[in-house]
Amino acid sequence: MYIVAVDEGKCEGCEECANNCPVSVFEMKAGKAVVVAGDSCEGCQTCTSVCSSGAVTLTEM
Ligand code: SF4
Ligand code: SF4
Repeated sequence: MYIVAVDEGKCEGCEECANNCPVSVFEMKAGKAVVVAGDSCEGCQTCTSVCSSGAVTLTEM
């Protein structure tokens, strides 16, 4: 399984992660990406690729 996390301090609110995750792990709340369905993550690494601020981290457990 994979653990997805967003560093709120680094997130710039571009919405790229939320718009590109194929299984809707992220939602935008108050201008920041929030992980709302981490259990659904398939480890595709799209979110870490599209995040230009390095706010998303993906860890395989
Ligand atoms: S690794 Fe892929 S499935 Fe997992 S949160 Fe990122 S974009 Fe979504
Ligand atoms: S891609 Fe990165 S900067 Fe953009 S909303 Fe997601 S976490 Fe924030």
